[in-house]
Amino acid sequence: MSDGPAASPGAPGPSQVYTWEPSNAAIAARYGLRPTDILRFDTNTSPVAPDFLPATLRGPFDPSLNEYPDSSYAELTGAASAYFGVHASEVVVGAGADEVLDLVAKAFLPAGSAGLVPVPTYAMYGVLTTQRAARVVPVPRLGAGQGFALDLAAIAVRLPDVAVVWLCSPNNPTGAEDTEADLEAVISAASELPQPPLVVVDEAYFEFSGGTVIPLRERYPNLLAVRTMSKAFALSGVRVGFGIGARSVIERLERVRPPGSISTVSARIAAQALAAPDYARANVAALSQEREWLAGRLGEVGWMPAPSVTNFLLMRIGDHEAAERAADHLLHTGIVPRTFGPANPLRGHLRLTVRSRPENERLLEAVRRL
Ligand code: PMP
Repeated sequence: MSDGPAASPGAPGPSQVYTWEPSNAAIAARYGLRPTDILRFDTNTSPVAPDFLPATLRGPFDPSLNEYPDSSYAELTGAASAYFGVHASEVVVGAGADEVLDLVAKAFLPAGSAGLVPVPTYAMYGVLTTQRAARVVPVPRLGAGQGFALDLAAIAVRLPDVAVVWLCSPNNPTGAEDTEADLEAVISAASELPQPPLVVVDEAYFEFSGGTVIPLRERYPNLLAVRTMSKAFALSGVRVGFGIGARSVIERLERVRPPGSISTVSARIAAQALAAPDYARANVAALSQEREWLAGRLGEVGWMPAPSVTNFLLMRIGDHEAAERAADHLLHTGIVPRTFGPANPLRGHLRLTVRSRPENERLLEAVRRL
């Protein structure tokens, strides 16, 4: 990493891109050296890592923790491209899916543009859109009776007005998955416009359902799939996520990506997890089974969760006050549900994560005492 912007100093303009020196591995390869021969005199770092680090955090890490991470995240990107079955140049890494979504907003939503958001959905799409001084174009999803499906006709009408379409499948907080046909209908309609908007498909919960748009990237260069280590891989605290799409999209995201937002420790943990996905598979199988058990028990006490393919359940409690009362009761027993504000279309609902059997038993006990 160099310690200054590559372009001329002054107010950052759209063409000013932060660049950095190559990684140890890249320099070693270029000059015929061993990576261990490389000394970083370019980064203003300290020469050794502190000795108070616990053994597991002292390494060996490459680079050592007193140095900056490899800004290209070659090891992590390599592991991700193998897991996703794509070329490394079709992957961008971020500090969680949230940072990837932020890169999208920075690169594709200039001030005054608009982002289409089928609602209800993950709140960050609206937040990131307005942060860029862009407009949110909300398009309600169909109702619970229609599985919260996308309203394709309403989306088609608004597509020409927007720079980004924020889709989420499986969708948080409804727990339902969009059909492949619906997703492709939106992506394809967008791609036919004179200025095709970028269609983001947030697949944070992909491993729970198995449906993905990644194979469509070859036909549609206006598509970005977003993935995370936070859900099936059980690594939320590690903060690693990915964008997968055509090279032209990834290049635009790389221009706004911070050089070192993922720690060396996180990058290594995520790369190891991606190389051994059996853990995620087993976790998904166990949580999916547990979800069905929990949904059944909640149904018995009158809380009827909407069908979910994810690791959470959405249920209607009553009006907004009833949901607030139920949440307050649960909080008094130390159980934290996801609530929705009075202006949210899901006011009157609560969202509950599927946890371990003993923890779910504790939740049920609290619900029974309501
Ligand atoms: N997208 C969706 C749909 C999510 O539910 C979440 C987490 N709540 C995220 C993105 C953020 O994921 P990460 O932890 O990777 O930032």
